[in-house]
Amino acid sequence: MSRTFLVAGNWKMNTLPEEAESLVRGVISVAEAANVNVAIIPPFVYLFDAVRSVQGSSVAVGAQNCHYEKKGAFTGEISAEMLAAAGCRYTLAGHSERRLYFGESDEIVVKKTLAILDAGMTVIACVGETLNERQAGNALKVVERQVDAIVSKIDKDAFANVAIAYEPVWAIGTGLAATPEQAQEVHKFIRTILTTAAPDTHIPILYGGSVTDANATELFAQPDIDGALVGGASLKADVFGRIIAAADKASS
Ligand code: PEP
Repeated sequence: MSRTFLVAGNWKMNTLPEEAESLVRGVISVAEAANVNVAIIPPFVYLFDAVRSVQGSSVAVGAQNCHYEKKGAFTGEISAEMLAAAGCRYTLAGHSERRLYFGESDEIVVKKTLAILDAGMTVIACVGETLNERQAGNALKVVERQVDAIVSKIDKDAFANVAIAYEPVWAIGTGLAATPEQAQEVHKFIRTILTTAAPDTHIPILYGGSVTDANATELFAQPDIDGALVGGASLKADVFGRIIAAADKASS
């Protein structure tokens, strides 16, 4: 089974229109020569423009969140179908900021995952333990619960459209990335669960949590790290470009 790297930039609630436009242009140019999948995940309001801008390039566009219902009286929400119709290829589910600040349970994450798959997009489903959970020795148990909740509900045929992002909560936006060994231990554990659930599909497992151009090469050298979900460092095209280049080198 082939191993294709994916590098996705989660812009979170950042950028004003001019910055967004120039960041999209910058990412298109740094991604051009690389033989890896690259996605940008801007705020909702920039999705249409981003999709138009990336046309004819190797960059795909994703969304940060969606509602699990198809339509209806859910003021302020956006459905997976709408995102797919807007040209999104990816949508995140279960980012720890959604779990933490917006009360998203495993059950909601599963519903969103299924809605994203149903709409024909690839889901990047995020899992990861908090610092307290790691310090209590429960990192693998927490990740197992989160991954199991997701994969147990997915049809065999849909696994080709799934990526898992292991994002230890303590490493997100803190500048304190997991060491390559810490990340590899959890990725290997997730790989075992995924191989049992979908033996014929190589499901990419991305690492997320303070990835920069300084640590990407070491992380991507690990056998079960297939790319990265990048937050802060995806807001600068040149830095993001060096992370893409590191993935390109690791995959060749
Ligand atoms: C993220 O938002 O998914 C993330 C990993 O953020 P950062 O790279 O800034 O830690």
